[in-house]
Amino acid sequence: MYVLEKAPAKINLSLDVLYKRADNFHEIEMVMTTVDLADRLEITEINENRIKIESENRFVPNDERNLAYRAAKLLKDSYGIRRGVNIKIEKLIPVAAGLAGGSSDAAATLRGLNRLWSLGLSTRELAKLGAKIGSDVSFCVHNTTAIARGRGEVITELPAPPACWVVLAKPTMGVSTKSVYQQLNLDSIAHPDTEGMVRSVMLGDYDGMCNRLGNVLEDVTLPSYPEVQQIKTQMSLSGADAVLMSGSGPTVFSLVKQESRADRIYNSLRGFCDEVYVVRMLGYHQSLD
Ligand code: ATP
Repeated sequence: MYVLEKAPAKINLSLDVLYKRADNFHEIEMVMTTVDLADRLEITEINENRIKIESENRFVPNDERNLAYRAAKLLKDSYGIRRGVNIKIEKLIPVAAGLAGGSSDAAATLRGLNRLWSLGLSTRELAKLGAKIGSDVSFCVHNTTAIARGRGEVITELPAPPACWVVLAKPTMGVSTKSVYQQLNLDSIAHPDTEGMVRSVMLGDYDGMCNRLGNVLEDVTLPSYPEVQQIKTQMSLSGADAVLMSGSGPTVFSLVKQESRADRIYNSLRGFCDEVYVVRMLGYHQSLD
């Protein structure tokens, strides 16, 4: 018996940090959506009572450090499952890119095992478990457009954003999310208009969404990595309607209404940037298959 699950990448349409909490986590507010660039997971039952991870990407750990492993272990321990699985991850999302690839693999594992082991858990129950693995996992379990609050685990679903093309570009280096949060100066933040972004998404207002893209983590990543600013500038010059860094970076994305402009941006970045993708946002409860 086996199940297949897609684990899509996420982008932040807005990312705000409100304050640092007593438990040392940051209180954040993010509007996030998923795009059709996805890892593919094949989860197969095996005869031994253990969790095996298979991945050919050298940046992805094949042991208990893998977030998919941690998700399977958590579900197994929480529900007393005495069966084993092999989780094969075909990694298509760039690693340490600000696209929540690892969190999405963990979420896909929770969804997949919920089916394979017939646990009958709701999305909310899976998202609650996911929060124990990482702040972005709850959002990834929902697999839709949403506003995330708290440390990222308090999810309110939103309708699909207005349709457009998304060009993603990832420079060679990876960025550590933890170190970016550590360097953030909370006194000098220009907060994005999160409420306005939510309103724009709900109204299907494309221009409003473009005008309100904002990510406070750019304050840390842009000065440290000039390549990120160069990509932003190149995308704007090539006709992007709006440009933003996703998460803690270094991936930058641009939004465009017209496919021909998306192609122009894509072509202008080839040779300048290793990994460039033209993708679409995924809609609310829209099938990924
Ligand atoms: P986020 O946007 O949530 O901060 P990210 O996209 O910046 O995430 P990931 O691709 O999730 O970063 O990877 C961060 C680190 O997590 C990697 O360096 C890798 O060692 C580790 N990791 C553990 N499991 C996975 C996985 N399944 N896929 C990718 N990386 C993983």
